[in-house]
Amino acid sequence: MKLPIADGRTTWRYAVGMLRRHRGAFTVIAVLHVLAATAGLVGPWLLGRLVDDVTAGTTADHVRDLVLFAVATIVARAVLQKVAQQRSMVFGESVFAEMREEFLDTVTALPLSVVERAGTGDLVARTTNDVNKIQHTVRFGLPQLVVAVVTIVLTVAATLLLSPLVAVAMFVGLPILLVATRWYLRRAEPAYQRESAAYAVLNGTVTESVEGVRTVDALHLGARRTGRADADLAEAFAAETATLNLRSVLFPSVDLTFVLAPISVLVWGGWLAAQGSVSVGTVTAIVMYTMQLTGPVWNLIFWLDEIQVAATSLSRIIGVRLVAPDREAGDAVPASETVTARGVRYAYREGHDVLHGIDLDLRPGERLAIVGPSGAGKSTLGRMLAGIHPPTGGSVTVGGVPLVELPLEDLRRHVALVTQEHHVFVGTVADNLRLADVDAAPERLRDALAAVDALTWVDALPEGLHTEVGSGGHPLTPAQAQQLALARLVLLDPHTLVLDEATSLLDPRAARHLERSLNAVLAGRTVVAIAHRLHTAHDADRVAVVDGGRITEIGPHDELVAAGGEYARLWNSWQHQ
Ligand code: ADP
Repeated sequence: MKLPIADGRTTWRYAVGMLRRHRGAFTVIAVLHVLAATAGLVGPWLLGRLVDDVTAGTTADHVRDLVLFAVATIVARAVLQKVAQQRSMVFGESVFAEMREEFLDTVTALPLSVVERAGTGDLVARTTNDVNKIQHTVRFGLPQLVVAVVTIVLTVAATLLLSPLVAVAMFVGLPILLVATRWYLRRAEPAYQRESAAYAVLNGTVTESVEGVRTVDALHLGARRTGRADADLAEAFAAETATLNLRSVLFPSVDLTFVLAPISVLVWGGWLAAQGSVSVGTVTAIVMYTMQLTGPVWNLIFWLDEIQVAATSLSRIIGVRLVAPDREAGDAVPASETVTARGVRYAYREGHDVLHGIDLDLRPGERLAIVGPSGAGKSTLGRMLAGIHPPTGGSVTVGGVPLVELPLEDLRRHVALVTQEHHVFVGTVADNLRLADVDAAPERLRDALAAVDALTWVDALPEGLHTEVGSGGHPLTPAQAQQLALARLVLLDPHTLVLDEATSLLDPRAARHLERSLNAVLAGRTVVAIAHRLHTAHDADRVAVVDGGRITEIGPHDELVAAGGEYARLWNSWQHQ
């Protein structure tokens, strides 16, 4: 399964909506560019007049006046251009910043199941390659495009005003230009789409190989992964070659047009001037205008190309917004703190249920251990109980309201999942804690840290709560990272916690220390512990044995041992290890 890609219309509507929102700033920029371009038109016109006046005979004073006027317009143009460019850059930056924020909101709200199914490579490619491509175009392309269009329109208008008869020669190369550009633009979109997709796949392969390097090593998959990366590279190379071929047709055709235009004007205008139907000065001015068009037309085509690339990227970025949410929040309020599962089924892949109708009533305040062989579905059940994924059948409710119908912020105040993966975010310790509660006062943060036995080391950090941690910041041990995660839980204060083998990866000493922190967090809450070690089960109020996606036994440890079933067997074998 891949993340969706927006179609042309949706992408266009998004871009237009974005421009409309910044209409005011955009108009100011357009006006500034029009003024600058108009000032740029004065030069050739003055030159034309100079030629005519000198031919007819004039005074040195007149020549000096014309030259001074030309200098004044050049200065005016430079000043206008500077202001316009500056405004354009600020405009590009703010549009891009807005897009980036929107994208971040979308990505962070993506249903986890979709991200897992689509693989992270595609998402990473969209957040890096595609965002970079858009950034470049929005920053530089949008302003340049406005300048190019304004300059071309005004310059053509000026030549037509001077002499339509001479100006027609300017358009001699136009058919070549149009045919080549059209040919190119038609093929460009799928070609660039293919190029982006190729990089996304390559990204996915490389990221997965690196992240799973131990598994790759252990299973001797190295050659296979390398082969796959090679194949992905070959496809990326082919895709790049295809777009390069497109450009190598477009560029020479455009160049040809630029050579043809001024030559045609010169020859045709020269003949007309010889006939006496136009002045030499008019021909001079129009030749100058024609030559002045080269820059803006090139810019236009170059940016049309880039904009095509950006449009492809934009459609991939907006595509992420098209992912249907996996839940819809209602406004029902849970009547109690009792979590109940009824007939819960779950399939990662359609038709392959890994949970086969699980019923479970959590008693408020109890500690339930879930045990069972690897692959039995314990973690999946844990994720259902924490509302991470909506079940594909049945329901998990809290106080009568399905977990997946609660707004996410509310859900986390009822049930939270604690796993062994703890990411320390770039920012201060306080920032990391405030992910759980944006407005928490420093005192609350300190209380939460104290509750998990972490206040001592946080206070010992160079800047205490305000020490930068995470990538590039002050390094934290895995145990400290986990304590931060636990302190976040204290701030969230959910009544039910699902622990997925929370301490198994740590060394035993750290684990014992953490267990104390953890116990402080667990006190007074309903706890579902997916047990890695059976002694956790022994200490629990009840034990549920999960096997093959079903709960096969459930009850207090002693009863299950006395009953002599699967749990009794597990327990006995564990004790005799
Ligand atoms: P346990 O926690 O008991 O080891 P899990 O809940 O992790 O079991 O897995 C139950 C079944 O679901 C296993 O067959 C596993 O292969 C499958 N499974 C787990 N996660 C995924 C996933 N993200 N995509 C597809 N299948 C999965």
